[in-house]
Amino acid sequence: MTTETTPTFALEQRPDPASDEQVAELLANPAFGAKFTDHMVVVDWSKEGGWADPRVTAYGPFQLEPAASVFHYGQEIFEGMKAYRHADGSIWTFRPEQNADRFARSARRLALPELPKGLFLESLRALVELDQRWVPDQSLGEVSLYLRPFMIATEQALGVRPANRALYSVIASPAGAYFPGGLKPVNIWLSEDFVRAAPGGTGTAKCGGNYAASLAAQAEGIDNGCDQVAFLDAIEQKWVEELGGMNLFFAYRDGTIVTPELSGTILEGVTRGSLIELAREKGHEVIERKYSIDEWRADAASGDLVEVFACGTAAVIVPVGTLKWRGGEVSMTGGDIAGDLRNALLDIQYGRVEDTHGWMHQLV
Ligand SMILES: *Cc1c(COP(=O)(O)O)cnc(C)c1O
Repeated sequence: MTTETTPTFALEQRPDPASDEQVAELLANPAFGAKFTDHMVVVDWSKEGGWADPRVTAYGPFQLEPAASVFHYGQEIFEGMKAYRHADGSIWTFRPEQNADRFARSARRLALPELPKGLFLESLRALVELDQRWVPDQSLGEVSLYLRPFMIATEQALGVRPANRALYSVIASPAGAYFPGGLKPVNIWLSEDFVRAAPGGTGTAKCGGNYAASLAAQAEGIDNGCDQVAFLDAIEQKWVEELGGMNLFFAYRDGTIVTPELSGTILEGVTRGSLIELAREKGHEVIERKYSIDEWRADAASGDLVEVFACGTAAVIVPVGTLKWRGGEVSMTGGDIAGDLRNALLDIQYGRVEDTHGWMHQLV
């Protein structure tokens, strides 16, 4: 298959799909990432043959060799996106070309094959079209179908080298609000013993290994009564980078917003980029620069820093109430900016306002 031809996915419908009642029950009460739709996408890759056999097939276990390299050396990447049902019943996703580009960048960093953009986009469309009854209606609230494209190295080989076989897949899970508390502020633990990413490492790639490496810090945060962990730069332990899976914004009393600049160790969030644009359109000055942990503490204590919020596809925007560290904490007073930006973004995603940016991409 070449990048020029429009890929066609074979449809292998499962004989035993969930009943309409089961789907309705799940959509009325979706947990995050716990239940999956009837089908999944699978595309195989080999060094000799390239991408082959694109199909939408029954959701179910993979058969993999125990020696498949993903199990040993973590050669894996993923993406996270959502499908939204608009009021007229049509189904859309948000800026998928950005995810396709990032997936290709992640693939290069992890020495996996690049998936052609057309194949990425068509895989989402084919799966959502077949499983469209799993995309919840927005009358149910902040609901969507979460899409999880991912790629793993499947070659049976314990030699340490890029695998000659890989598998691309997409699974989908009905999603309600990521944090059931909605806009309830979360507490953030400052990680001082662990870093997420170092220069030259994999911080800008969306790979499972980054998440595995963040879990011990996350557990420490939970032990300290926090929901999420903020990581600092690996060299000076001074510059605020991001949370384990969300980018950070700092909003000042005068309306200025600061977000850590893309330093080579921060994951470039699609939500981050979109919020920078939306905030500027609303008249905020948005500055991308290095932002120190001392600034965060001092400006929150003085009251100049009124809001801190984290953002990502799954949780959209979450306000940070308190930053805690060993021996101290500081709280933000809170304000309207996070909520305003959140509503502006959700209105576009759910088709409640005109999409003046051309960000929405119709799937069904
Ligand atoms: C996925 C991710 C984000 C958020 O990216 P979005 O494209 O906005 O969903 C932020 N940080 C990390 C480390 C991530 O993996």
